[in-house]
Amino acid sequence: MAKGKINVQTENIFPIIKKFLYSDTEIFLRELVSNAVDASQKLKTLSSLGEYKGEVGELQVEVILDKEAKTLTVKDNGIGMTGEEVDKYINQIAFSGAEEFVQKYKDSEGANAMIGHFGLGFYSSFMVSEKVEINTLSFKEGSQAVQWTSDGTPEYTLEDIDKKDRGTEIVMHIAEDSIEFIEEARITNILNKYCKFLPVNIKFGSKTEYIDSPTGEKDEEGKLKKDPIEVANIINNTAPTWTKAPTELETEDYDNFYQELYPMSEKPLFHIHLNVDYPFNLTGILYFPKLKKDIQIQKNKIQLYSNQVFITDSVENIVPEFMQLLHGVIDSPDIPLNVSRSYLQSDSNVKKISSYITKKVADKLNSMFKDNREDFQSKWEDINVFIEYGMLSDDKFYDRAKKFSLLKNTKGEFFTYEEYNEKVKETQKDKDDKIVYLYTNNEEEHHALIESATNKGYDILILDSPLAPHFISKLEQSLENVSFARIDSDTIEKLIAKDEEQPSKLTKEDEEKLKPVIEEVAGKERFSVDFQSLSESDSPMQITEAEFMRRMKEQQALSGGGGMGFMGNMPEMYNLVVNTNHPLISKILETKTDKKKKQLIQQATDLALLAKGLLKGKKLTEFLKRSVDIIK
Ligand code: ADP
Repeated sequence: MAKGKINVQTENIFPIIKKFLYSDTEIFLRELVSNAVDASQKLKTLSSLGEYKGEVGELQVEVILDKEAKTLTVKDNGIGMTGEEVDKYINQIAFSGAEEFVQKYKDSEGANAMIGHFGLGFYSSFMVSEKVEINTLSFKEGSQAVQWTSDGTPEYTLEDIDKKDRGTEIVMHIAEDSIEFIEEARITNILNKYCKFLPVNIKFGSKTEYIDSPTGEKDEEGKLKKDPIEVANIINNTAPTWTKAPTELETEDYDNFYQELYPMSEKPLFHIHLNVDYPFNLTGILYFPKLKKDIQIQKNKIQLYSNQVFITDSVENIVPEFMQLLHGVIDSPDIPLNVSRSYLQSDSNVKKISSYITKKVADKLNSMFKDNREDFQSKWEDINVFIEYGMLSDDKFYDRAKKFSLLKNTKGEFFTYEEYNEKVKETQKDKDDKIVYLYTNNEEEHHALIESATNKGYDILILDSPLAPHFISKLEQSLENVSFARIDSDTIEKLIAKDEEQPSKLTKEDEEKLKPVIEEVAGKERFSVDFQSLSESDSPMQITEAEFMRRMKEQQALSGGGGMGFMGNMPEMYNLVVNTNHPLISKILETKTDKKKKQLIQQATDLALLAKGLLKGKKLTEFLKRSVDIIK
């Protein structure tokens, strides 16, 4: 037996590794299973190259739990190692990796992702073990099997053993403070998390399956009797859908894989299969879930893999924020997994990957729009939040998306930006040559206004997504000569002001006489009276809220500054538009008794408030009583 000291300058390396990696100890299993998978695949490669002439057999990695002995073993039938290789790869190279890691990161926080990058993989087993054994036999003809052991001090032993089967067995003697790792449920959980799509079968224990009884016996119900048999419990799917060629796959396969990733989820709308090998390597599938209007949907659903090994489900530094609304898998060995967040953001590969994904998604949407516009429109409600989010946060995406991003009007028709501009550029041009896009965020509330504007030949868009306030500003900046006006922000005559004004039935003196009375009845502090010369068929009074004021409030609400700052102290101010051409207004003017006059004003004001949904409580009760009095 040989004894030795691992080639190390730093004393007490294990306590440091342990301390750093504590929060994420479970990944030791990922590291050991990945090593075993690598060793298996290497053997396959050597065999296909003719460098290994023996029988490859069925390659399999086995995870074995022995509760009594308190050991957890990862066993493979891959290439194995000779004694020399153990010395080289474990005592020298692997350890120097570990040491480099400690030197570099002993003062930094959150170093847990460093594993692997520095060849710390194998040594992570010491996070949970008081002693680790390697029993290994190389595939090379005439090799001698060896056992390496270490208890976590730099001392190790290396001796010849009698091991007949090719491959490596890592036996971890689980430490007292890590006893959770001899619990079957815990191990199942870790394997499911990290190893679910590894390319070599991973066996963990056995399970019972029922097969048709070979005797042909029937049970009471006349069905063929089933016999229980114990079969290997294989925890992984070695050929996940993203590793296959898109030409081999049907939509159903993608949908089934979605279920495998997110059990019990609603079917996705569509998918994008990513596949690129230059200038970086990346495969994956992104899915569009049904987003509805809820932007607070759960992010962190995209899973990141590296050669089918699960790495993380927080991809915020790898894909743009709006892309995180999507679901699915990204697999790339070219994403540096073991570096800090700030480094990741400046990494050129990551930047390329991020813009590749963005382009792919835009291309997909564009081709869907072109190939089947009707189908695209039918999905619009579910994808527009995503598209708006993307257009708001990424100018490149904006440029791509402006070709297929749609505007929907109250008649249910869809338009591209270009089409819409063609449609309204003459009819909705105001006297200053601005094109005014009218919109509503609530068809029901604005029903009367929409109807009257439509009757006048105007078109009204529906912009009701949670991002609409921001998105509208963005469109105003980007579209030439266009301004947006919500249908309730003024009378339509003011929103799209034309040169020719209607003559008014009221003189200036009439207005001055009427104004203080209306102010008194309606309340000066809440309403500012605005005489407008509208058509007879418009309502006698209308309540509007200036677009500018409302937007300020909305922006404030969106940025969560409720009640703070100067906006918070802003009174609720509305305009009370008085239609000077309405017969009721003339009637009010002519009414002799003050009481009767005020009653009419009150009634007209209340009707306007009612139309706006602002008449509530005591005011509403009074209005109802007064209405009954008037009609009885
Ligand atoms: P890395 O996997 O990043 O190279 P590790 O510390 O995990 O670093 O392993 C060091 C080396 O030990 C590996 O590169 C490999 O050569 C060897 N090794 C580890 N596990 C096995 C195994 N199960 N079978 C064969 N060789 C192995």
